[in-house]
Amino acid sequence: MMSGIRSKNTKPELLVRYGLHALGLRYRIHYHKLYGKPDLVFPRYKTVVFVHGCFWHGHNCHLFKLPSTNTSFWETKIAKNQRNDKKNIDLLLAAGWKVIVVWECVLKRSKMIPSLILHLAEIIKTGSYSNFIELTSAKTTSIEEQSNG
Ligand SMILES: [Zn+2]
Repeated sequence: MMSGIRSKNTKPELLVRYGLHALGLRYRIHYHKLYGKPDLVFPRYKTVVFVHGCFWHGHNCHLFKLPSTNTSFWETKIAKNQRNDKKNIDLLLAAGWKVIVVWECVLKRSKMIPSLILHLAEIIKTGSYSNFIELTSAKTTSIEEQSNG
């Protein structure tokens, strides 16, 4: 069960990086000065991209399943990761960054990757309609920034 999680034949983050680079986008990686150390930072577009592993970040998808051993340990750990993710995204949005989360599951369908990368590049370059976007295997979701009222 756990054996598959760490072994990476195709590292999701590298797929995204190489794909965007091939399209001419330039970025910083693991930029430690920003909240949550985003995987890719596009200063020119004031946009950050996180590539999230569905297990570690507790994605609600088919790739996520709590291990049957040490279940409460994993539950606690992943819940903590989710809290941190949310906090970091909120801080980035508040600081005027646009945030894109690419979930690992969307990168599992290799046929879809080229169009996904194109879509991603488009979002970054055009400065999309939404400040927070998640790309998942289920569908492309965009969530308008909520104003508290
Ligand atoms: Zn997922």
